[in-house]
Amino acid sequence: MKITLGTVTHPGGSRVNKTGSWRTASKPRFNHQACVACDVCALVCPEGCIFGTGQNTYYANEDYCKGCGICAEVCPVHDIEMIPEAGEDG
Ligand code: SF4
Ligand code: SF4
Repeated sequence: MKITLGTVTHPGGSRVNKTGSWRTASKPRFNHQACVACDVCALVCPEGCIFGTGQNTYYANEDYCKGCGICAEVCPVHDIEMIPEAGEDG
């Protein structure tokens, strides 16, 4: 019997796999009102697409965000909310 072993050698990281085109119906909005720059949102984002350098500067690169909502869940001051994909009107 012949057994063939295989592996995925190039799984692709977030920078390769743009997710913006298939994101869920929601995306995060960073309100920049109460952010304490704890960096937790950036640390837990599975796509590594949240960036910031201080209070009220954090944002998500929507080309890579998949809309999972984890960032909004973990923000200790509730400064991130998930909004409908087409609802960015302020
Ligand atoms: S919704 Fe998910 S993928 Fe998008 S920025 Fe937040 S944690 Fe990252
Ligand atoms: S989790 Fe909330 S308070 Fe912490 S850096 Fe992100 S937006 Fe700011």
